[in-house]
Amino acid sequence: MTDLLHVDHVSKRYAQGGVLSRDHVDAVIDADFSLNRKAPEIFTIIGESGSGKTTLARMILGLETPTSGRILFEGAPVPTTGTGRQRRAFMAKVQPVFQNPFEAFNPLKRVDRYLSSTARSFLGLTKPSDIDAAMDAALHKVGLTLAEVGGRYPHELSGGQLQRAAIARALVCNPSLLIADEPVSMVDASLRMSIVNLLKALRDDAGVTVIYITHDLATAYYISDRILIMQKGRVVETGPARVVLDAPLHPYARLLKASVLSTADAGAGRLEPSSALIAECDGLLQRADGSRLVAQADGRQVRVYG
Ligand code: ADP
Ligand code: MG
Repeated sequence: MTDLLHVDHVSKRYAQGGVLSRDHVDAVIDADFSLNRKAPEIFTIIGESGSGKTTLARMILGLETPTSGRILFEGAPVPTTGTGRQRRAFMAKVQPVFQNPFEAFNPLKRVDRYLSSTARSFLGLTKPSDIDAAMDAALHKVGLTLAEVGGRYPHELSGGQLQRAAIARALVCNPSLLIADEPVSMVDASLRMSIVNLLKALRDDAGVTVIYITHDLATAYYISDRILIMQKGRVVETGPARVVLDAPLHPYARLLKASVLSTADAGAGRLEPSSALIAECDGLLQRADGSRLVAQADGRQVRVYG
């Protein structure tokens, strides 16, 4: 059966210091996973800042082209460019939610305009009453109403409301896959759980598959069905979330878990350089060439070094 999404041995290398420079960054190295079409889930990608999470998300959205490997959505290659029919059909099914809602919305444009233009371009609606109904339905799914949001500019909403509106905008076209790149990191701590619970409700009530990208282990533990842990572009451990997070095997996965207890992190997505595990993790990075993921009996895969 065709997968919803198949990330097939995907790598992304960026040149640094101009096209003629030999310097490069391997942002993503051989990422490989599939999402099932029949079983909506929350698939979490976690790693500290710079581990390649956003690059992977942008490739899945067709905003970046892989250097090698391929990405299939419902069996067909993700259309990467243009405004053609194929790209539009893809975007109606795969929608992003970005980190900072205040950046995602133009401060001079009313928030409802984003929802109505999504309804027009992806649902093909033209009648104002139909557009209002589509907007209201999407806003209801995130606990807002058109009466609350209609006519408002971004600064007239709270960060939490605005991120909900961003999710509502993504939901207008009834996508089957939502890619949420650190959706709660710019939202007040007190409102984070409401957004996280919303993602859960989308999976359970609307059957939306969610790729949840985060550096926050607590929310990841709370909502994830499966998890994929990245260290400097490489997947180091992946599998059922509880199996992996209850007893992580890879040193970097253990470091990530230990860092939750560190106060120095303060949500910045960086690890506190105090743990004894750090040297071990750095050492493994040096030995990563020729390393490979090995399946374990409990359903996870762990990177092993030669
Ligand atoms: P994350 O989202 O996990 O913080 P990113 O995917 O943003 O990680 O970045 C991974 C690596 O790729 C980083 O070293 C970053 O500097 C580099 N990178 C990301 N985008 C570009 C780009 N457009 N050009 C060059 N390097 C990039
Ligand atoms: Mg990022």
